Amino acid sequence: MDPLIRVEGLKKLFPVRKGLLSMIFSRKAEYVHAVDGVSFTISKGEIFGLAGESGCGKTTTGRLLLRLVEPTEGSVYFEGEDIFSLSGRELMRKRREMQMIFQDPYKSLDPKKTVKDIINEPLSIHKIGKNRREKLEIIYEMLEAVKLTPPEDYLFKYPHELSGGERQRVAIARAIILKPKFIVADEPVSMLDVSIRASILDLMIELKDKFNLTYLYITHDLSVASYLCNKLAIMYLGKLVELGATLDLVKDPLHPYTKMLISAVPVPDPTYKREEIRIRGEVGNPINPPPGCRFHPRCPFATDKCREIEPDFNEVKDGHFVACHLFQS
Ligand code: ADP
Ligand code: MG
Repeated sequence: MDPLIRVEGLKKLFPVRKGLLSMIFSRKAEYVHAVDGVSFTISKGEIFGLAGESGCGKTTTGRLLLRLVEPTEGSVYFEGEDIFSLSGRELMRKRREMQMIFQDPYKSLDPKKTVKDIINEPLSIHKIGKNRREKLEIIYEMLEAVKLTPPEDYLFKYPHELSGGERQRVAIARAIILKPKFIVADEPVSMLDVSIRASILDLMIELKDKFNLTYLYITHDLSVASYLCNKLAIMYLGKLVELGATLDLVKDPLHPYTKMLISAVPVPDPTYKREEIRIRGEVGNPINPPPGCRFHPRCPFATDKCREIEPDFNEVKDGHFVACHLFQS
């Protein structure tokens, strides 16, 4: 399959804001290593999952891919075009093709606007639809696509009159109205009631097929990721530690961190035995990430080498990459 997105050596360091005293006593500028040298490709039509504990750099990666933040280093190619080299009209054209669905539908929708105005906004910005009737037709079509029906019941409602699930459907309608090719969905169901999560995920799968979408699906929840995604990348402290087809990764996780995350996911079959690695310790500090392998302070298998030398991201099996000294040749 053709790559839609190719990410190469992407880095984003945020300067740490310091108080006056620490500025006087320490001259050294400090940075949060939010994304610290990440490379991967997303093929057309894929649901590419990016998973890891909170603070590991998932949202920042998603925002970089849509150029909502500028990188410190590295490139993102969208259909072969480096998005960080675009400006003006070219950038505007690319922006139409990539959209984001945010975690919190309570914050991402303007409380003072009606559903109709919220969904209409991208049409106005990109001057789509010849007249009001044509715009309204597109809005109707989108409300139907996200199953807010009949559309006339929703058009003039405000976000506070909707449930969490309905709000996220409005946010999805707004994201797909320009018929984008690529969507970054940043934990789109984590704020929703467990009972409605599956229906939103199923809607996303349906829309992907209907509108030929490709997703980057960000989550801290491996059970959701393994349900939805065909590829999975595991992130730890700004770096990818493992990447592969979801089935390979879930059945045969290689990195101790991936094993640890998968051990925490409940298995429906109680007779099923798998290697258990307990989650221990806490995510390290992204301002001063540990030397060597960043996971070594939490890793039950860490050796001196792991404490000193950073492992390469190696392809161990076909399409299955891991950054761990246990798997270096
Ligand atoms: P995740 O989505 O995996 O929880 P984020 O990408 O939000 O992780 O954050 C990664 C790290 O970068 C965190 O330590 C976070 O505090 C920091 N960070 C994120 N955005 C900013 C910002 N705008 N300024 C400073 N630090 C930030
Ligand atoms: Mg996040």
